[in-house]
Amino acid sequence: MNCNEASSRFDAFLTDRLNVRETDAFLKHIENCPDCRDELEVRYMVRYTSNDLDERSQYGGNENYDLRNLLADKLNERKRFVRRQRMISFAVLVFVLAALLAFVIWFFFIPSGGL
Ligand SMILES: [Zn+2]
Repeated sequence: MNCNEASSRFDAFLTDRLNVRETDAFLKHIENCPDCRDELEVRYMVRYTSNDLDERSQYGGNENYDLRNLLADKLNERKRFVRRQRMISFAVLVFVLAALLAFVIWFFFIPSGGL
């Protein structure tokens, strides 16, 4: 993924609309590209401060929000999402292979009429 592709996905990333593969590619680019990370940080701050303003004032208007940490949380959350989806895919693959193996064993190794 290059910088143009990454910057066209900022909004989709922040609203969790990227699929697993896109999220993974996006995160890898963000980790290696300080320019895009800064840009994402700015977009995230804008989004956060405009969306949650009402909610924040409800809790006494605490202004000590560390937006940098919030973005780090967001990035970690998305990393966990990629990892979880990978694990699910892996589990499905293992299950399919096991089923296939069971079928092969049944088909080739259990003598017909033997059961
Ligand atoms: Zn970049």
